Amino acid sequence: AVKPYDPENIFAKILRGDIPCSKVFEDDHVLAFNDIAPQAPTHVLVIPKGPYTSYDDFATHASDAEIIAYTRAIGKISAAAGVNEDGYRLIANTREHGRQDVPHLHVHILGGEKLPLMLP
Ligand code: 5GP
Repeated sequence: AVKPYDPENIFAKILRGDIPCSKVFEDDHVLAFNDIAPQAPTHVLVIPKGPYTSYDDFATHASDAEIIAYTRAIGKISAAAGVNEDGYRLIANTREHGRQDVPHLHVHILGGEKLPLMLP
């Protein structure tokens, strides 16, 4: 069975301001920050503010406003990060088989160099 949302996960703590982050973007529904262990010159994590564990959870349960804000933010941050022209990679590792470590939905934006085949 899919686990319920864990409010003690590290991104929930970042959202509450309990631990700091290097913020890239924020609006009512979305927070984006630099990954603490970057695997490329650009490595940004984009998360919805709501308690969603995965993309499937988010797409099923989030409001239209949240989905629009999140989708737009990922595109705008990719452009602002300057990775658009040469390209970049979006990744959402999901649960055990996807090797997801933090159980709050996050899309990785990776770029700034030609990436290895599999990351992160
Ligand atoms: P996942 O493996 O769940 O797809 O990715 C989790 C990501 O979160 C990893 O790339 C990891 O480096 C990053 N991460 C873990 N803890 C923290 C933290 O406290 N702050 C930030 N900024 N990133 C974190």
